Amino acid sequence: MSRVDLASIIKKIAAMEAEEQFQAWKPRLSAMGHWERCLRQDCYHSQGYKPDKLSERSYLTMDDSSWHEELTFDWLRKGAVKVHSEQLEINKSGFTGHIDCLITLMNGETILVEHKAVNRYSFDRILKGYLPLDYITQVCHYLCSHELRALNVGSAILLMKCKDTARYLNFQVAYNHDKDSGMVELREEYSGNGELQWIIQGLFHKSWNEQSEIKVHKEFNTLPERPYRKGEDWQCDYCRYASYCWANYEYEVLGRDKRVECDAPLEEYFNVKRHVKSCEGDLKKIRNTIMGIADREQADVIACGNYHARITVTKKGSVNVRVYKNGEDDAETDE
Ligand code: SF4
Repeated sequence: MSRVDLASIIKKIAAMEAEEQFQAWKPRLSAMGHWERCLRQDCYHSQGYKPDKLSERSYLTMDDSSWHEELTFDWLRKGAVKVHSEQLEINKSGFTGHIDCLITLMNGETILVEHKAVNRYSFDRILKGYLPLDYITQVCHYLCSHELRALNVGSAILLMKCKDTARYLNFQVAYNHDKDSGMVELREEYSGNGELQWIIQGLFHKSWNEQSEIKVHKEFNTLPERPYRKGEDWQCDYCRYASYCWANYEYEVLGRDKRVECDAPLEEYFNVKRHVKSCEGDLKKIRNTIMGIADREQADVIACGNYHARITVTKKGSVNVRVYKNGEDDAETDE
């Protein structure tokens, strides 16, 4: 029997394709929003920095997303709407883009559809109220392209699919040029929020300013401040320019020689930290008491009133004490 490791073969093929993926920076309508995307990242890209290698798994994940788009459009094609103009090239003020598709309804109305397949974490984040503003900005710019205006396309659907659970969110988007505002509607049943509406002001003003900033930084080979922090923000954790961005941070800080008077919450930080430290001591004492009882009684679960504690040992040999309120799954304490 031949032993074949398809998992590693797929990873190797993906790694080769990922290597070929780097594209030089050019003004793109799909990269207009910087509500969550990092502007500094685009500055690196525009100044020709080569991004860190994409991991095979990230490449596969991105590739999955484009196949989800195909799957969704296949479903739509089975219905009464006409799906067409896939990947139509559009232009606006020297910026280019490719739409996902247009759909034409039975009443003759044509609507832009932009599809985004995201993981469960990102999908749930949206359900908690974080609007996908970068995508909404992108869609509004698409709507104002020469090509879509000529085709009389007045609105768009930003269709978000959760890759893990196959749930969809349907954001209906329109753009008001006179007020520079995006109007967004969402009917969603997953969190029981019902119908929601938002008006986002100054969409284009913000994005054109950001593009000018990128241009100026490119001209002078400078960079904007870091809007996010490594180890604290997912943007840096997934950023392919992080190795450049944080390479000299230690020396930047070492090179500073300035004292400022300001209203930073230093006293609050000092007090909270002291409180946390004293709590750590208390927590240790309580934990020792719980562990003492568990060892004395040779018990893995001990109960008291409305609470019970479960003692487990990890493979590395450390002991976990998790305290639960009866009837609730979430651990109150986890050590
Ligand atoms: S590492 Fe963080 S701050 Fe730096 S460019 Fe990337 S996302 Fe922006």
